[in-house]
Amino acid sequence: NVERPEEIDQLRLNLPALACEQQIMDAIHHHDCVVLTGETGSGKTTQVPQFLYEAGYGSNDSETPGMIAITQPRRVAAVSMAERVSVELGNHGHRVGYQIRFDSQTGPDTKVKFMTDGVLLREMSSDLMLTKYSAVIVDEAHERSVNTDILIGLLSRIVKLRREEGKPLKLIIMSATLRVSDFTENTTLFPTPPPIVSVEARQFPVAMHFSRRTTHDYVNEAISKAIKIHEKLPKGGILIFLTGQNEISFAVNQLRKYSKEPTLKPAQVRLSAKETVMEEETVDFDLPEDETDYDDDNSDEESEEEGFEEEYDGEETKLHVLPLYSLLPTQEQMKVFEKVPKGTRLCVVATNVAETSLTIPNVRYVVDSGRAKQRVCDQETGVQKFKVGWVSKASADQRAGRAGRTGPGHCYRLYSSAVYERDFSQFSAPEISRMPIEGLVLQMKAMGIHHIVNFPFPSPPPRESLAKGIELLQYLGALDKEMQLTDLGKQMSLFPLNPRHAKMLLIGNQHGCMGYVIAVVAALSVGDPFIPLYELLPPPVKPVVKSDDSEDEEEEEEFTVEEKERQDKLRQRFNQVNGMFSGLDKKSDVIKALAAVAGYDFANSTSEYCKENFLRSKIMTEITKLRQQLAYLVASTTRPDAIESTTQALSKQLQPPTKVQLAALKQIVTAGYIDLIAVRADSIDDSASVGKKTSIINHPYITLMPGPEKYAYIHPGSVLSHLGSQPPEFLVYHALTMGDAENAKVRLRTLADTT
Ligand code: ADP
Ligand code: MG
Repeated sequence: NVERPEEIDQLRLNLPALACEQQIMDAIHHHDCVVLTGETGSGKTTQVPQFLYEAGYGSNDSETPGMIAITQPRRVAAVSMAERVSVELGNHGHRVGYQIRFDSQTGPDTKVKFMTDGVLLREMSSDLMLTKYSAVIVDEAHERSVNTDILIGLLSRIVKLRREEGKPLKLIIMSATLRVSDFTENTTLFPTPPPIVSVEARQFPVAMHFSRRTTHDYVNEAISKAIKIHEKLPKGGILIFLTGQNEISFAVNQLRKYSKEPTLKPAQVRLSAKETVMEEETVDFDLPEDETDYDDDNSDEESEEEGFEEEYDGEETKLHVLPLYSLLPTQEQMKVFEKVPKGTRLCVVATNVAETSLTIPNVRYVVDSGRAKQRVCDQETGVQKFKVGWVSKASADQRAGRAGRTGPGHCYRLYSSAVYERDFSQFSAPEISRMPIEGLVLQMKAMGIHHIVNFPFPSPPPRESLAKGIELLQYLGALDKEMQLTDLGKQMSLFPLNPRHAKMLLIGNQHGCMGYVIAVVAALSVGDPFIPLYELLPPPVKPVVKSDDSEDEEEEEEFTVEEKERQDKLRQRFNQVNGMFSGLDKKSDVIKALAAVAGYDFANSTSEYCKENFLRSKIMTEITKLRQQLAYLVASTTRPDAIESTTQALSKQLQPPTKVQLAALKQIVTAGYIDLIAVRADSIDDSASVGKKTSIINHPYITLMPGPEKYAYIHPGSVLSHLGSQPPEFLVYHALTMGDAENAKVRLRTLADTT
């Protein structure tokens, strides 16, 4: 008796998933585990939960009263899909809820629950049999996030146990049309392969247009391609794939500027690496030479460029430009689903969020940079990099497919077909093969899984990373020599945190430090809240030039006097703010973050405060939420008799810490990063001494855990880089990073000096 809004009924009729309802439900009825694949946008995520709900899953007077869980690897998707399904379910909309790390919208009425895969995994550590649920949908399984992989491994066993108990749990693994053989042909995982149901989507043909040459400058290339599409081709949305927030903001600004005054075209601006040398790790505009191919064909290919044969029909004069990336506030993200203003053409500039998890309506043109930013972690040396690299062929094809949802479309690939064939791998590697897994190992141990090697992983983690994880947990005291969980380890596993941070909380109760430790751990867990200067300054550009100007007149223009003044003021203010935050302690990035968290709290957590002090607003909000959650968790384990008052005491506004507390805080941080200590090289090796004038970021350090090179150096973004005197003899860091540049140094992302 679900009554849906009329326009939803209409829209649903066109969804391929709806035509397969019978087939899907039959398969679920006859099997405890079903794999469902289908083209992105075919209605898997929005419809299958509704099929289950209408078939009586989650209904009190049925044999399957348990809730329906739907997991997503990304928070954005969990929230937006829950909202969508709630709308679609009309008079039953209140049955849909969601839970993500920082937010929960669920109640006693909730029967359909969207969540991140991490949240469900947490629930399993206290209720392994998932007794509250009658069906679990693991969505976006092709993304192969660590959590999704583990969920599938665990669920393959739980489903069997629930069957034996006579209270079956249904498992539906959903994936875009990508390789699913890792699940279906893996006999440790599923001794009898689960049936595969494929939703056949009407996919319209997408004409593929490769670039003739592949350039570094894909951001500008994407911008001009979009403008050209807008000016020359019939209506239909444009979707641009870039790699990260900086690039996206830049492109959105340029396109909006153009849209306001179409006679002015953005000049070909080279986003040079020069401005960003200070932050070499984050240079995301250039790829190393060897990853791209150049040919000598520098001829102007405009006139004969293919893919622009259709005629523009002149209906939409302006571009409606929207960014889409994960750090964007949720309301901003949801704008991509809204109706575009009359007479405008939608143009979304996105990261790979838009690849499979969110389907943006009415896209006809895809502009694909072919790249994505990925965190890669060298298993051997522990060096982390955010690396812009080529996506896989499977991903590139997914991206192209976004153009063919509502009609025939075009995909403009900003790389040559030779590069695609030669340099793109077939599929991307599962995350478990690239990331440290100590958190996972601890959680599995806490669930009673002792022989992790025997766990039915869809793809097992590399042996070294498993060994590393175990070793670290032993350092932290979570596992004993026999690799058994200790009492400390058990307590650590109760926190939804990296084991290092959990350890810090557990030893944080000294000198009245707990409130500070909670704030510090929240900041370390969520991420860096400080916006670096190079993100605030515009790239060294030639301003917009008239499009009619002939090439020769386009000379390098300088910034205007006013602009230069503005930039000077900004720099000044930036240094002032940074000086303020590091006022408490000049040697510790952790204490600097603590100062920011405390200041934000004092200023009533406003976004103005963030703006004035160059802090990332979304990160600050999340830190605040996590502080609350952690305060509650700590209170409920340490003072079960006075949870509420203790929670309040632990998350109240922070007074500046005393000297003793500062020292204690640093020791607590060091205990969490006990293996990541570096020593100034000259203090143990005379030959490593440096001159008095050597800048701080050029002082060599030796890490206790051997890194990829003999020496590592303080990262230019560290507070220590502003220290007037000799850098500390010992320091603790949280990661080693390395830029892409040829002579890039190994850098220490510092936390504090140790005393
Ligand atoms: P799949 O999971 O198979 O990729 P989805 O169920 O996510 O497909 O999407 C089905 C359709 O619903 C798509 O056409 C998509 O554009 C539309 N849709 C999803 N979320 C929203 C929303 N919030 N507003 C409007 N349309 C949406
Ligand atoms: Mg989906």
